Amino acid sequence: MNNKLYGNLIFELSKEGRRGYSLPKNRFGNYNIPDSVCRKEDAALPECDEMTVVRHYTNHSENNFGVNNGFYPLGSCTMKYNPVINEEVANKPEFTALHPMQPADTVKGALEVYERLQKCLSEISGLSRFTLNPFAGAHGELTGLMIIRAYHESRGDKKRVKVIIPDSAHGTNPASAAVCGLEVVEVKSTAQGYVDVNDLRGLLDDTVAAMMMTNPNTLGMFEQEIPEIAQLVHDCGGLMYYDGANLNPMLGASRPGDMGFDVMHINLHKTFSTPHGGGGPGAGPVGVREGLEQFLPGASNARSVADVKTVDFADADGGGISVGGYHGNFGVLLRALAYILTLGRENLKMVGPLATLNANYIKECLKDEYLLPIEGLCKHEFVFDGLRDKSTGVTTMDVAKRLLDYGYHAPTIYFPLLFHESLMIEPTENESKDTIDGFVAVMRKIAEEARNNPDVVKSAPHNTPIGRVDDVLAAKHPVVKYKDIEA
Ligand SMILES: *Cc1c(COP(=O)(O)O)cnc(C)c1O
Repeated sequence: MNNKLYGNLIFELSKEGRRGYSLPKNRFGNYNIPDSVCRKEDAALPECDEMTVVRHYTNHSENNFGVNNGFYPLGSCTMKYNPVINEEVANKPEFTALHPMQPADTVKGALEVYERLQKCLSEISGLSRFTLNPFAGAHGELTGLMIIRAYHESRGDKKRVKVIIPDSAHGTNPASAAVCGLEVVEVKSTAQGYVDVNDLRGLLDDTVAAMMMTNPNTLGMFEQEIPEIAQLVHDCGGLMYYDGANLNPMLGASRPGDMGFDVMHINLHKTFSTPHGGGGPGAGPVGVREGLEQFLPGASNARSVADVKTVDFADADGGGISVGGYHGNFGVLLRALAYILTLGRENLKMVGPLATLNANYIKECLKDEYLLPIEGLCKHEFVFDGLRDKSTGVTTMDVAKRLLDYGYHAPTIYFPLLFHESLMIEPTENESKDTIDGFVAVMRKIAEEARNNPDVVKSAPHNTPIGRVDDVLAAKHPVVKYKDIEA
């Protein structure tokens, strides 16, 4: 709703002299503030009554769409329900009022949170130890690659400069490798969407520092040849890195540590529920197998709470590395631990199977209308290559925009880049069959509209506060000032 009465900007609603508050009488006398630090003119603040302020912001919040409003099937980003109990835990003053430089013996509770979460992640992943320091998935990748580089350097092995990355990988993988000063080498995918082992063989030599793999990969497929790939990479002296940003389908099903991976990151904000998007907040803890613990950032070489005399947040013990201030994004860590403990061991094991079931159900219900380039069992997500019937001219962008009219958030579109009309759907484990059936029905309806009335799809959305924006113009000539939009 864009209710003009309550306006676009709070400043436009300002009326001189309006107040939404009253201050108590001054009982303390006056203090003369020196002229030199006083404003020459009053600050240009909006002056509004209380109801105007409340309605203005409430109406704006209703223009927004989140996972608490409706189904949000964004692939590769795992937008799952964030239980309110997580927010309550993260907002407890016992946690929010902590200062990272407090003496360790006054923050035993926080230290226990770190230790328990590290242990949970180790158990879930099959790896030995985690740092909770990194602030995002990409930051975790960088940390993990720095750990791998530190490992090679510790052995005097300085010629390892290459990181092998599949062509289907998330863009952060090559970016992190480049930021780490390593050289990116792309390995091809087979027609079925898996890492091409033959292509890989030709890339391996003693300059390979690591291979990064996402599993299930960005097409939602469980990589078939991991034992062989791990063997090949290890044989040439490289380490195996696991991009575990979206670990949903693995929970209760299998563990990266058992598959031969040496280093991994997990996106807590995706897999263990923190509301994210628009740049934050996140956490990308990095785990390592036994024998690599000494290369973790020193802040999180998990010592038991009882051992902690001082909280050494600054830098590593010995050969480690430092990647971020203090001890990570504590609120996100709290939410992740709350999520894990609320579900408990047995229910956590259901996450992977349910996420997988939901994704496969949607895929099978829609594949007669939408083009499924890669057949077979997917994991938590899958990719369509647009509508099956290409003669209508209706694109993936049009389908995504039309979904908004029906009250659904769009899936991920035009990623991965392997197909021209990628439409990447991830339902997560939380959704009921009714919700999923509702989504399937709407997707089928849009396919029918594309045949019978394509213009209504091509000109969508029709029911949202803002219609279709010109994204090319927006990218080339961004208008970043409100007044310029009005003009
Ligand atoms: C989201 C994602 C990342 C990056 O995580 P950020 O927290 O956004 O930095 C990396 N890899 C994969 C597979 C992802 O889905």
